[in-house]
Amino acid sequence: MPRKNLHVLMIEDSDDDSLLIRHALQEAGFEVVHDRVDTEAALAAALKGRPWDVVICDHNMPELDSTTALCIVKEATENLPFIVVSGSMPDDQAIESMRAGARDFIRKDNLSRLAPAIERELEETSVRKDLKLTRQHLEQAMHFDSLTGLPNREHLIGYLSMMISEGRDEFPFAVFMVDLNRFRKITRSLGIEIGNKVLIEVAESLRGAFGDLILLARCNADRFIAIVESLESEAQAGEIAANIHASLNRVLVAEGHELFVTASVGACFYPRDGNDVEALLKNVESALYAAKLVGGSSFKVYQDAMESRETVGLAMESALYRALKNGEFLLHYQPQFDLSESRLIGVEALVRWKQPESGLISPGIFIPLLEETGLIVPVGEWILKSACAQNKRWQDEGFPPVRIAVNLSSIQFQQADLVQTVRNALQETGMAPEYLELEITENIAVHNEEAVIGILNELRALGIHIAIDDFGVGYSSLSYLKRFPIDKLKIDQSFVRDCNDGAHGDGIVRAIIGMGHSLKLKVIAEGVETWEQLDFLQRNGCDEVQGYFFGKPMPAEEFSSLMRRESMETLL
Ligand code: C2E
Ligand code: CA
Ligand code: CA
Repeated sequence: MPRKNLHVLMIEDSDDDSLLIRHALQEAGFEVVHDRVDTEAALAAALKGRPWDVVICDHNMPELDSTTALCIVKEATENLPFIVVSGSMPDDQAIESMRAGARDFIRKDNLSRLAPAIERELEETSVRKDLKLTRQHLEQAMHFDSLTGLPNREHLIGYLSMMISEGRDEFPFAVFMVDLNRFRKITRSLGIEIGNKVLIEVAESLRGAFGDLILLARCNADRFIAIVESLESEAQAGEIAANIHASLNRVLVAEGHELFVTASVGACFYPRDGNDVEALLKNVESALYAAKLVGGSSFKVYQDAMESRETVGLAMESALYRALKNGEFLLHYQPQFDLSESRLIGVEALVRWKQPESGLISPGIFIPLLEETGLIVPVGEWILKSACAQNKRWQDEGFPPVRIAVNLSSIQFQQADLVQTVRNALQETGMAPEYLELEITENIAVHNEEAVIGILNELRALGIHIAIDDFGVGYSSLSYLKRFPIDKLKIDQSFVRDCNDGAHGDGIVRAIIGMGHSLKLKVIAEGVETWEQLDFLQRNGCDEVQGYFFGKPMPAEEFSSLMRRESMETLL
């Protein structure tokens, strides 16, 4: 076995002890390069001297103690693991020193623990470094949208507030919001790549359609915002909207598919319709929603009486109420596979709305409305029960049991009786708790961490699994992960998408897998679409996968056929 180089900075007054430590590390397969210091000055100099992998520190020395040494090390470097090795340190002081930032405490008569502790620290340090690097990349990418090259929402907001603070009321301008109609349908049926090509072309068309443009930004998926200077009249705005519709109103041909793209457009004016960023964005969105209600290539200018976000909300709200009452919601099921055993181990339930007039509507559109109206609570309850009932049915039909993952919205998580709701669903359907996994997102932890931990503990006490959905996009931090009682991390599909195209996605995916494993969590990747992604995930030790490559979300009957095929294969 090749020996690993290890640069050890030893803070130790005894030559004999230092020899013992060195020996223990060599026994464990390390090629040790070390320096020994026992005064503050020597320590400070050594820290400047070379990059160290680890500091091993005695507790009590004539001229230095471990607390002071730790302070000096922390000041000079970040991320350098500090391990106290002592024969005499009392337990309470050891704990104190761990609190201050020491990574471990090892007794001199138990040196066999040292090498494993160092291995663990090296791993965690490299994960932390990876994360830090990827954070930096992310930061850089923060102001521009990498797909279209347009500024993003943050950039736009910064710009808007600058214009307002500089311009006062003397320089009026207009804000436009453009949202493509049924764009998700394009990505859904033709794939993200074609969706992306469409977005690039749309961005190009929009650039042309706006006249004296100041700034065009892409805000999220298929929504663009533009600021147009010196524009005050509704008639002028109408001309621009007509330009936008005309520029989009041609056939886009993407890899043999002819696509018609239409957009809804809303506009509002500064200072007439608002004199701060928040008001302008809120009102332009109201205008956009009013346009959406009309449908097709539509345009609306904000009007005082509009408050249309609410009006639209009301119309939608009653439609969603009816949907729940009339049983217009249904579930689709997407398979999850274990990579080491190559077998089906789970299924995610994803809700759909089958509207009598417009057909299947994607949850991306109606979940936010359900959340806004609070309807997510009864609908969520229905989803939970239906998912458990379906899974139990499959088990009763004799299929090998799999775990069903159900998405929980953060609103549901705020309900006082969530645990009881879950308990009821299990009781009423007779499904065993071990076959239920709840997917939550990191943002539920933002408020009231203690309460969240309490609820998670109660849920897990029932025997249910907890997975963190969309992991990596929120405020992932090692420290909160450690405190949260969870079972699984689900790597967000955006990282999976560019995990092997040379972008920084691969670093993030590797870091998440390492981080998950170091905390003894399972790691699942979602949005796996290609063989290359699968190969990358497999090579990097990801436990489970889910994505179009294995199967899209599908109706229950189709999922039964999939399981039938699966069990045939294992029999053969
Ligand atoms: P999510 O929980 O992150 O679900 C994954 C989404 O990615 C699903 O979209 C799924 O169809 C899609 N997907 C799966 N594999 C692939 C792939 O290989 N490529 C691509 N491009 N997409 C893939 P869907 O069903 O439209 O759901 C969107 C979001 O709506 C979900 O994101 C979740 O946040 C929410 N949602 C869906 N069902 C429910 C539900 O029952 N309850 C709650 N609270 N939210 C739900
Ligand atoms: Ca999910
Ligand atoms: Ca997800």
